[in-house]
Amino acid sequence: MATRSWHLLGAGSVGTLWACRLARAGLPVRLILRSASRLEQYLEGPGLRLIENGHAFTAALPAETAAAATPIERLLVTCKAYDVAAAVAGVRQRLVPGATVVLLQNGLGSQQAVSEALPEAQVVYGSTTEGAWCQADGSVVFAGQGFTWLGRPGDAQAPAWLADLAQAGIPHQWTPHILGRLWRKLAVNCAINPLTVLHQCRNGALSDHAEAVNALCDELTALLQAAGQAEAAESLALEVERIVTATAANYSSMYQDVAAGRRTEIAYLISYACGRAASLGLTMPRLEALHHRLIDYLAARHLPTN
Ligand code: NAP
Repeated sequence: MATRSWHLLGAGSVGTLWACRLARAGLPVRLILRSASRLEQYLEGPGLRLIENGHAFTAALPAETAAAATPIERLLVTCKAYDVAAAVAGVRQRLVPGATVVLLQNGLGSQQAVSEALPEAQVVYGSTTEGAWCQADGSVVFAGQGFTWLGRPGDAQAPAWLADLAQAGIPHQWTPHILGRLWRKLAVNCAINPLTVLHQCRNGALSDHAEAVNALCDELTALLQAAGQAEAAESLALEVERIVTATAANYSSMYQDVAAGRRTEIAYLISYACGRAASLGLTMPRLEALHHRLIDYLAARHLPTN
């Protein structure tokens, strides 16, 4: 049987990291770019470029816009969470029945929207600790080795296409508890990222705000438990403390987005957490106060608050 192509929607940092590794392993990958002008720009260059351990790898992958007619059997979605719904809607007509759609966004909310919009697809959620960033010349630097959890809530049966990831050397594991993984990461993000923005500091400086961090962890633990994610709630404060120490010299992704004047993924992170708390009837004074302060901070800098 012919190897099935991967279509990549979102050729940014994470998208380039995945597309280049799949292509390097000899697997077919096609890019779906945002517009005709983006496509033209891409075709004028050498292709996607990944820098790993100081070595550059260039992949001249075929590319198209959403308007192309090629049927899509496997779609890897690596846009920002706020772009996912529109990006996926743009290719919906091209998905074959039962197509696999893999979502690699941070936070929660965008995954559920795609599952609802594509009831006939096999929608897979991912949670990754890998790190990549885009240089000014468009090359993507593989900055942090990590691991990717993939799964469909409650589905213990790992799909055969995971063999492609193994072939590409992408460290991963299938889990039926993917929602727990996503919730845990979201909670850690809520305890760290907004404070780094408001205090304008690196992660490590949050050890000076231990009372605030611990109070947030108490509320987030209650939220995870009420949301049916008791396992994800276990030892949350200890994990946050460990991450603050382990990443002490780093600036959080939300800090970096704000510093660069980019839209944040707040709607899928702390706003999502506050929304779920409200719908569960929970009162979370510390989290809500932090949320309001963050929104005010973004608005004062003319950045989107959603
Ligand atoms: P990114 O570098 O901004 O890449 C997003 C890409 O999506 C951009 O190239 C953008 O194209 C493209 N895009 C947006 N809408 C599109 C559309 N309708 N059609 C086609 N392409 C479209 O973002 P990222 O850093 O890779 O992050 C992606 C997700 O992974 C986020 O949820 C992030 O939180 C998560 N994540 C990232 C990292 C990391 O280290 N970067 C780590 C863990 C998780 P344009 O350039 O045309 O806008």
